[in-house]
Amino acid sequence: MKLARLPDGSPEIFFTLQGEGRHTGLPSVFIRASLCNLHCRWCDTDYTWNWDDTSHAHDKDADPSYRKYRREDQILDLSAAAIVEAVSAYPCRHYVFTGGEPLLQEKAWVTLMTALLETAPSSTFEIESNGTLLPGAAFLDRIDQINLSPKLANSGVARELRYKPAVLEALAATGKADFKFVIGDVTDLTEVLYLLKDVTIPPSHIFLMPKAISVAELEANQTFVAALAQEHGFRYSDRLHLRLFGAKRGV
Ligand code: SF4
Repeated sequence: MKLARLPDGSPEIFFTLQGEGRHTGLPSVFIRASLCNLHCRWCDTDYTWNWDDTSHAHDKDADPSYRKYRREDQILDLSAAAIVEAVSAYPCRHYVFTGGEPLLQEKAWVTLMTALLETAPSSTFEIESNGTLLPGAAFLDRIDQINLSPKLANSGVARELRYKPAVLEALAATGKADFKFVIGDVTDLTEVLYLLKDVTIPPSHIFLMPKAISVAELEANQTFVAALAQEHGFRYSDRLHLRLFGAKRGV
């Protein structure tokens, strides 16, 4: 499996607290996949896709010191057995698969979940996905929680790439999916309400989360996003890891 690689060369696997959504605060082992099929301009894991031979725009382009990434520097290919061994060091059997877009490597996750369940049958799994890819039965049978974050126009990604209502509808029907929307201003909420005309999602599975890649941005956006959640009967998701650790990798 192609995993993101930390600056010290190790795979981006770490023990922390889930920072977003329904399981906020739950001790979890994160496994971060490299590669993504989108290119959101505010993405905080741009080292999983913003390669130096691509022309994708990113908000960080405004920083003269920002550089796109060399693919070879950012990816580590690890077998399921090697990942099982790496996570065995942690006192936790709840796993979060993240990215990038982890479902680009769906079969590898099925193999990994199978291996982890053989080692510890009580293992539980959640995945964070952009909601453009529909996994098959082998994956859906094993995963416990699906955290979808469909991208809005504020991502800068073309609508036909980021918006797959049939995928969202199918995942909503599993009963395992929550939908988390990144809100930067009230026009984003309008877009969410339009999406809900296409896709049937119970309000209790909808989270509004402030757009933020820094604590300052989180604090600037949190109040109005919380108010929108209250007004529409949705849930508010914080970004706990940003408050606890800042915009650092591997925590
Ligand atoms: S879908 Fe997620 S990982 Fe991919 S570019 Fe957008 S924010 Fe980043």
